[in-house]
Amino acid sequence: MTSPTPPADALLVEAVLPLRRPHRSGASEVRDHRVLLLRLTARGAEGWGECGPIPGYSRETLEECRAWLRSSLAAGGAAAGGGPPSARHALEAARADLAAAAAGRPLWRHLGGSRPRVAVGAVLGLGIALPGLPAAAEALAAEGYRRIKLKVAPGRSVDRVRAVRDALPHHDLAVDANGTFDPADPAEAAALDRFGLSFIEQPFAAGDLGAHARLAAAIDTPVCLDESIASPEDAVRALAAGAAGALNLKPARMGGLAAAAAAHDVAVAAGVPVWCGGMLESGVGKAAALALASLPGMTLPADLPPSSRHYADDLTAVPWLMVDGHLALPEVPGAGAAPDPAALERHTVSVESFSGT
Ligand SMILES: [Mg+2]
Repeated sequence: MTSPTPPADALLVEAVLPLRRPHRSGASEVRDHRVLLLRLTARGAEGWGECGPIPGYSRETLEECRAWLRSSLAAGGAAAGGGPPSARHALEAARADLAAAAAGRPLWRHLGGSRPRVAVGAVLGLGIALPGLPAAAEALAAEGYRRIKLKVAPGRSVDRVRAVRDALPHHDLAVDANGTFDPADPAEAAALDRFGLSFIEQPFAAGDLGAHARLAAAIDTPVCLDESIASPEDAVRALAAGAAGALNLKPARMGGLAAAAAAHDVAVAAGVPVWCGGMLESGVGKAAALALASLPGMTLPADLPPSSRHYADDLTAVPWLMVDGHLALPEVPGAGAAPDPAALERHTVSVESFSGT
């Protein structure tokens, strides 16, 4: 992934993608997803990267990403280190796509991926009221999603999980609290242990490995860490503390595919399963995340749904389709997910170009 790449010309495109339904994260609600798409071209090959921080979830803003990418591209792509994680991921993913395309290899094989199809799950947010939740979960199961993950919050977990578990006694279910549970009151998280969940994701705040370790020791359900893992070193610390029985590795949160792959290697060595979560990626950004999700230790379904889950008009010429609960990785050079020019034009709000990066 860090292989030298020839000097490239770059295009930085801001696009706004209308979501099919509002996305709630914390206190904010997003109706359109804003992304920066980076295209690098060199010697007839091209590579694409994407960053799209989610307001209310991501620590960085799109403007911070734009500023860092501008300065990096103006400096010949040399501004390594520092910078917002999702922007660093976009630059690294574009370079990896370019390198794979130039080498005539699919990106996922270039990264060391071993599975040509990735099992996918779907997320049901807190915006869905309890009475409608079981039917929504049943509809996702009928569509083929391999895992259904319920967002939960204090006072809004046990009833929601029980209702869905009653409707789907045998389906793969999990929950994600996004760090909202109180470590001084671990009873609610422990009460979820009886529902046969695949994992309880990030019950407590990102920095509180101790609380996660205590819960992990007290229950049978694996504790999965997401926001706690921003680097491979975080993965080492979390596993050494006994704080995690699974890891959700998002390249946009970890500053790139290489960092996420290194954390994957740490987890594999420890015998801990990992998977790749989603951040509303367009079809372009999804290709890089799916390539990561094809690594051998990514044995749990990825929250990287088909295009139709989030977007009625995705950017890629061929939408990502789910077949039998899986997305198939393209057997073409590079990521195989360049935007369709007409679709890109429909959503573009600004374009900047840079030469010799
Ligand atoms: Mg999460």
